[in-house]
Amino acid sequence: MTVDLVISNCVSVLDSGPNECGLAIDEGKIVAIAKDPLLPDADRKINAQGGYILPGIIDPHVHLGTKYPLDEDLSLETPGAVAGGVTTIGDMLGSPGCFLPHRNLPTCEEDVKSWLEAFPHFKEIGEANSFVDFFVSPQVQSEIEVNEMQVYAEKFGITSVKFYAHMKRPDLTDVNPQWKSRIGLPCDYDDGLIYLAMKNAAKIGPPEMVMVHCENSEMTSRLTKALKISGRKDPAAWQERSSGLPEAEHVRRYAYLARVAGCRLYAVHISSELGLRECRNAILDGTDLIAETCPQYLAKTRDDPEGYLLKVNPPIQKRDDALALWQGIVEGTIKCIGTDHVVQTKHHKLSQDDLRQTEGDRLNIWEVGSGSTGLNTLLPVMWTEGVRAGRISIEKLVQICSSNVAKAFGLFPKKGTLSVGSDADLVLVHPSYQKRITADILRTRSDYTLFEGKEAVGWPSLTILRGKIIYEEDQIVGKKGDGLYQRRVLSYK
Ligand SMILES: [Zn+2]
Repeated sequence: MTVDLVISNCVSVLDSGPNECGLAIDEGKIVAIAKDPLLPDADRKINAQGGYILPGIIDPHVHLGTKYPLDEDLSLETPGAVAGGVTTIGDMLGSPGCFLPHRNLPTCEEDVKSWLEAFPHFKEIGEANSFVDFFVSPQVQSEIEVNEMQVYAEKFGITSVKFYAHMKRPDLTDVNPQWKSRIGLPCDYDDGLIYLAMKNAAKIGPPEMVMVHCENSEMTSRLTKALKISGRKDPAAWQERSSGLPEAEHVRRYAYLARVAGCRLYAVHISSELGLRECRNAILDGTDLIAETCPQYLAKTRDDPEGYLLKVNPPIQKRDDALALWQGIVEGTIKCIGTDHVVQTKHHKLSQDDLRQTEGDRLNIWEVGSGSTGLNTLLPVMWTEGVRAGRISIEKLVQICSSNVAKAFGLFPKKGTLSVGSDADLVLVHPSYQKRITADILRTRSDYTLFEGKEAVGWPSLTILRGKIIYEEDQIVGKKGDGLYQRRVLSYK
């Protein structure tokens, strides 16, 4: 038997741990995992020279199509995924109006369309422009959409919906009109709607889950007001308005509601020690809660010199919070890593959009756009700060960046594991290879990175998507349109 591809002389990180064995790949699937002499003959043979083979990284938390049109974001940002070893992304999309034909910039409430109408366009744009596989976690923002969750799951394989609970009271948040229309505000959006979604998620069953951005906006908006009155507009004020308590309060509240409803809750981007503590308590109380954090909360602190560039939402906290989050990963409270990849240039970050741009007021933190990119640096930062720093093992890295994510989102064992029958999504890493992170080597529209200057290891030297080599010798050899939409499977337990 001759297969398409064989990779030998490597350490494969299997579910059972690293193992000195090679892989055979045929028609996009892994067909054998064996010691090198036992591998079949192949059309192409790759000698991995002792490197580690990991299952492709899955980033469940990107916001492509949020600040720029979806097709542009997919074609400009997913090459960064490829170069970073990320073979599947989960896009969190706000108003479907963002990507409907000729509606790239919805400006009024009427531009907000149902996902039933919008989904086929999303899939089509994705499969025409993405370099990697993708799925979607749409924002739901009305009773109509919440009542359509079962249809989304059965018809489109969408088993996760997102609530931006920090935007729950648009009357109290300082949201500009264009952004409001993009995310569909004002809308029928309160805890009652979230609870209704949780009850529907419980009816559908895992992997269906409700994802919540936990951050009590009633608290943060009052604190923001007080900080503004006192004249604060420095970067640290962004953190002070939300120093962990608003996050923790929301985690506790939505964990309670999820437990009563009997559904799975996915707490996105946990950023603080207080928030983590509530996640831990909720799990001990029997809540089916999956906590996620992001590299920026693990590797950065609010006191770092990047100033306004550090503005992300929720804010980056103190060093002790970062250390607590690492502990949360080690103990298993935090199960998944996502990047919260939001594309913008420095200029765009400073002006956010034309409506808010005011000359002479450029370093007012309240006027700075929030978000940062991370697809290209996810694996190197987690390897450098996690594995090389001695905080986590390589198996743990694979769990939090791939297998746990696949399990949470209903993609396992098709994705997230090196197993016979699984998609041949893989990354080859030579851990001694070190390279400095600078914005100009990253594949993204953005012109800055929070990790500028960091000497990092964990860079992929080969990325394979469903058996096809898409990154090799520092070159993207895949093309846009290689990515396929991934339906999630409802029966997975
Ligand atoms: Zn996000």
